[in-house]
Amino acid sequence: MTRPQRLVLVVGTATEVGKTWVAADLLGVARRRGMVVAARKPAQSFDRADDPSGYDSVLLARATGEHPDSVCPAHRSYPAAMAPPMAADVLGLPRIELSELLEEITWPSGIDLGLVETAGGVASPLTHDAASADLVGPLAPDLVVLVADAGLGTINAVRLSAHPLGSSPLVVVLNRFDAASELHRRNQQWLETDGFDTVTRVDEILDRLTDDDATP
Ligand SMILES: [Mg+2]
Repeated sequence: MTRPQRLVLVVGTATEVGKTWVAADLLGVARRRGMVVAARKPAQSFDRADDPSGYDSVLLARATGEHPDSVCPAHRSYPAAMAPPMAADVLGLPRIELSELLEEITWPSGIDLGLVETAGGVASPLTHDAASADLVGPLAPDLVVLVADAGLGTINAVRLSAHPLGSSPLVVVLNRFDAASELHRRNQQWLETDGFDTVTRVDEILDRLTDDDATP
């Protein structure tokens, strides 16, 4: 099966922490550096009243130049603002199995950077039989990007979120980081002392992917 040269999995410490924004930003920077990019959102859910221009698949598609249905298959868009398997239940749709979502994640050939965005936080239900973090094993990403807040509570959230992610290469993005905030600076320092690789800008994520010798 075709696999992007580099595969990134974007997870979050919580929902609404900025996964899609970080993902779209990262894809945009990569594209401007000449990389061919693609994004996948295996399942998404939203409020029926939401503006479609704000759907994750639409924002990611805008960043990669793909069609939103290529990013998230139409039958995996659930118009109910709850975790995808719950939304499927509420809407009377079939159970979602992890194996099905994995089969649906396919890539065109020639992709330099492929990005998969999960749903909710790392332990949030993505399917009836799996949480978002359960994508790490089968996808074997080159890098897991954990999007976290920069402010109060982030050390707790990052430490707890790192556990189910296993030993894959991990970078923590402190989203909305403000260098003028002593709290933000101290949070970053504390996490670094903890052993986390932390960044505050998306171009630093790209450096993690292009620094090593994986280019043939
Ligand atoms: Mg999102």
